Amino acid sequence: MRHPIEIILVAKRGNFLRNIRVPLYVIVAVLVGFTLVTITSLTLFIFNAQNSITISGAERENEQLLKTLDSLNSLLQNSQNNFDNHIVQDNRDRTYWQLACIHPDIWSMGIGGKQYKPASEYISHETQNMLVQIYETLDVLKGQSYLKKNSMNEIQGKIESNLRLWAHIPSTNPVPNSKLCSGFGYRVDPIKKTVRMHWGVDLSTPRGTPIHAPADGVVSRTEWSKGGYGWVIDVDHGYGFETRYAHCHTMLVKPGDIVKRGQIIGTVGSTGRSIAPHLHYEVHVSGIKVNPYYYINSATIIVD
Ligand SMILES: [Zn+2]
Repeated sequence: MRHPIEIILVAKRGNFLRNIRVPLYVIVAVLVGFTLVTITSLTLFIFNAQNSITISGAERENEQLLKTLDSLNSLLQNSQNNFDNHIVQDNRDRTYWQLACIHPDIWSMGIGGKQYKPASEYISHETQNMLVQIYETLDVLKGQSYLKKNSMNEIQGKIESNLRLWAHIPSTNPVPNSKLCSGFGYRVDPIKKTVRMHWGVDLSTPRGTPIHAPADGVVSRTEWSKGGYGWVIDVDHGYGFETRYAHCHTMLVKPGDIVKRGQIIGTVGSTGRSIAPHLHYEVHVSGIKVNPYYYINSATIIVD
């Protein structure tokens, strides 16, 4: 069956005919070669098409990522600008609570610190700059948030400290709506009829009127005084403040009792060197007797 295949060529001029014998293996070789070329071409075409699709997808993804980075950068810049308002408010709060303001240079901590360099050399210069800006802004915001948190804790501590102090400063009238019948200072003593220093204020009010503690403190004395005070109560308020209540009718506390502002500690009487029911009220600051009038809301005192 190994017959050669004949190819007949026909000349256009005349009746010239010529037989050309082509061996079968040549025909097979040509067909195989053609098939290989076709398959290779198709494979390359498909591969290129796939690559083209992949690159196109990567470009779109890259574009979206760049847009996202840009949005993120804008968001961070706005956050940092808004943080400036928190710094202004922090300065106000610290000033109000008598704390030193944090220096602007300290608020700016993070700038000029750690240098960020994107790892890949395939990132464009523009994108690298954006990434560096994002990293630096994050660094600054992180430092500022830390400072703000510490500042708030410090302010909170100061407020609590002040509240404790204020709670212990005598600042209310022990016998509201009483009448000021004798002030602090030199006066003619009502009994001895001589000029003597009066170390407190006399607040006239009926016998049995409740005496209210003007601040938080601890009772330091409840006893009969031989010096003319009669039944006397002393309260130590801490922070250098002490108060004294003389000529009491009754005493409702004992030494060591903790009292709160407004708590009733006794009642008004006329015991000791007294000619009528009244409260002799003293305020001591660091051991010095001061005018109690300045530690009482004047609206709660009746003055002739
Ligand atoms: Zn007095």
